[in-house]
Amino acid sequence: MTTQQATRTSIAGAPFLSVVIPVYNEEPGLAALFARLYPALDALGHAYEVVFIDDGSRDRSAQLLSEQFERRPDATRVVLLDGNFGQHRALLAGFERARGERIVTLDADLQNPPEDIVKLMDAMDAGHDYVGSIRRMRQDVAWRRWASKLLNRLRERTSRIKMTDQGCMMRAYGRRIVDAINQCREMNTFIPALAYTFARDPTEVEVGHEERFAGESKYSLYSLMRLNFDLMTGFSLAPLQVFSMMGMAIALLSGLLFAILAARRLVLGPEEGGLFTLFALLFFLVGIALFGIGLLGEYIGRIYQEVRERPRYLVRAVLERDAAPPAPPAQSIGETVQRVARQ
Ligand code: UDP
Ligand code: MG
Repeated sequence: MTTQQATRTSIAGAPFLSVVIPVYNEEPGLAALFARLYPALDALGHAYEVVFIDDGSRDRSAQLLSEQFERRPDATRVVLLDGNFGQHRALLAGFERARGERIVTLDADLQNPPEDIVKLMDAMDAGHDYVGSIRRMRQDVAWRRWASKLLNRLRERTSRIKMTDQGCMMRAYGRRIVDAINQCREMNTFIPALAYTFARDPTEVEVGHEERFAGESKYSLYSLMRLNFDLMTGFSLAPLQVFSMMGMAIALLSGLLFAILAARRLVLGPEEGGLFTLFALLFFLVGIALFGIGLLGEYIGRIYQEVRERPRYLVRAVLERDAAPPAPPAQSIGETVQRVARQ
C-alpha cells in the first residue's frame, strides 16, 4: 500500500500531502523549522506541499516565509493574512488553499517533531480518516498541563468529542473532512473538535513534545480561556443546560430551607444570628446567577458574530506557483488575492 502511495498524487498534479502551518511572530524559530520539516517530508516519499499562513506577524516572519517560497516554490505556498485573526482562523485560511489528499496541521514552534508526521501517515494508511495525537511527556508549564487535563475531562462529559489531548495541534485529516470544514462558515471554532464531528474512523497516536524551540507562547491565560469557551460553547449546549438544572435544584432546596425555617419559628420562636447565613447564601446565589448571565453572553456574543457574516479573515497575498482551486464565493467576500504566478 505504501509503495503505491509513494507515487500517488491526487487531482491533476495536486500533492498527496499538505502540511498546514500557522505562523505568528515566529521569526527566531523559522529557520530551524525549515531545516527539519523539509527533510522529514522528503523522507516520506510522497508528493507534498507546505502551506504556511502568516497570521499578521509583526516581526520578520512574513519575509522569511517569502524567502522560503523562493527557495522551494515547488513545495511551498504562503498565505499572508492582513491582520492577526488567531491560530484557528489562520488554519481555516490554510485549509481553503491546501490541495492534498491528506492534510496535516503542525505548529511552527517545533514543539511537535516534524519527524513524527510519519506516525500520522501510518495511521492513515491503516484506514483512519482522522488521526489525533497525544503529547508524550508534555513540556509545558505545570498550570497549563493541569488546566488542560481538567478541561479535557469537562469536555468529554459535555460533548460527544473524544480527544485525549485537545491542545495538541499535530493532527492529520482526510480530504473529505477538510472539504467539510471548508463548508462551515462559523467564525470562532476549534479545528480538532470540528474535524472530529466529521470523522468516520478517528484514532489517536502518541507524538513527541519538546519545549518551544525559540520565542514565546502566543497564548496568554486570557486567550487560552477564550479558546476554551470557543470549544465548549461551539460543540456543546451542556453549559447552558447545567444552568436550568441548577436553577431547578436551587429552587427546590430553598423551598425546603423555607419549610425548615418556618417550622423552627413556629416551634422554637424567634432566633438570633440568621443574618450572616442569609448573606452567605445570598452571595453564593448571586455569584451563580452572574456566571449564568455571563455564559448566556458567551453564546449570544457568538450568535451576534455569526449573523453579521463578516469575513473570517482577510488575505493580503498568496505566494504560490500554480493557482489554487477557486475559493467558495462566500469566503472571497472582501478578500484581495494577489497571486504570484511563476510557471
Ligand atoms: N499562532 C497563530 N496566531 C495566533 C497565535 C498563534 O497563528 O494568534 C500560531 C503560532 O505561531 C504557532 C501555533 O499557532 O505556530 C501555536 O501557538 P503557540 O505555540 O504559541 O501555542 P502553545 O503551544 O503555547 O499552545
Ligand atoms: Mg506551541
